[in-house]
Amino acid sequence: MRMRPTLSWTPAEDPPPGSTDLAPVADALSTGGVLVLSGAGISTESGIPDYRGVGGSLSRHTPMTYQDFTADGRARRRYWARSHLGWRTFGRARPNAGHRAVAAFARHGLLSGVITQNVDGLHQAAGSEGVVELHGSLDRVVCLSCGTFSPRRELARRLEEANVGFEPVAAGINPDGDADLTDEQVGDFRVMPCTVCGGILKPDVVFFGEAVPPKRVEHCRELVHEAASLLVLGSSLTVMSGLRFVRQAARTEKPVLIVNLDPTRGDRHAVTRVALPLGTALAAVAGRLGIPGH
Ligand SMILES: [Zn+2]
Repeated sequence: MRMRPTLSWTPAEDPPPGSTDLAPVADALSTGGVLVLSGAGISTESGIPDYRGVGGSLSRHTPMTYQDFTADGRARRRYWARSHLGWRTFGRARPNAGHRAVAAFARHGLLSGVITQNVDGLHQAAGSEGVVELHGSLDRVVCLSCGTFSPRRELARRLEEANVGFEPVAAGINPDGDADLTDEQVGDFRVMPCTVCGGILKPDVVFFGEAVPPKRVEHCRELVHEAASLLVLGSSLTVMSGLRFVRQAARTEKPVLIVNLDPTRGDRHAVTRVALPLGTALAAVAGRLGIPGH
C-alpha cells in the first residue's frame, strides 16, 4: 500500500520573498519552447478555491483518499453527495485571464505543451489544445470493475433523478470538486452504479494517495525533456506528482520559472518566483510580448 500522502508541507520560516519582475517570464516565452505546468492557483480567479495559499480550504477539508473511497461504502456516499453538489459550481466556472493568456501563448507558438494538475477543464475551455491532465478530469467517470469511461454529465443527470429534493447548502467548495457537507446533509443520498456492469463508479481523477498512471507520467517526462524551459503557474508543488517535473528540469539545467503568490516547494530549483496574481501577471506578460486578444 502507498503511504498516506503528505498534505502538510510548510515553507521555511523565512522564505525568500517573491519577485514582481515579469521580465524573466517574458524573456523565456519570447524564446519559445516553454512547457507550462499549472495548478489550482490559476483557477482561483474563476471562483475555484485553492487547498493551500491564503484562505485555502485544506485547513477545514481533508481530501478524499483513494483508500477511503474504495474501501468504504459510506465514504463513497459522502463523496458523491458532496461531489454532486460541487459539480454544479464547477459547471458554472469560466476561464479567467490566466487561462486565456496561456491559450494565447500557445496560439503564438511560444509553448511546447501544457500540463495541468487541475481537474476543472478551464484551460481547454479557454481554447488550449493538447492539455495533459496530470490528475485526470472531473468531466469523466470510470468504472472500477469494467473500466468503462462515461461522461460526468450523464451521471449527474442520473444522480439528479435519484435524489430529487437534495438541495443542501454547502459550507465550501474545493478544487477537486468536493463540497463541504455534514453527515446530516449527506443523509441517505443515493449513489449510482455502472450502467454496464453495476460496478463502483469513480470520477476519472487521481485522488490523494493514488498514483498518476505511469504512461501519463512518462509522457510528461518526455514533454519536460523536449522543452526549453518550465513555467509553473499557480502551484505550491506540495505533491510529488508535479514537483518531480521541476526537479527533472532543474537536473537537466532547463530554467524553471514560477508564478505563485506563496512560496513553493520548488523555489530552490527556480531562477525566479514571481509573486503576483496569475491573471494580472499573465495578461501583463502577454501585453509585453505584443499578444493581442488574450
Ligand atoms: Zn462497469
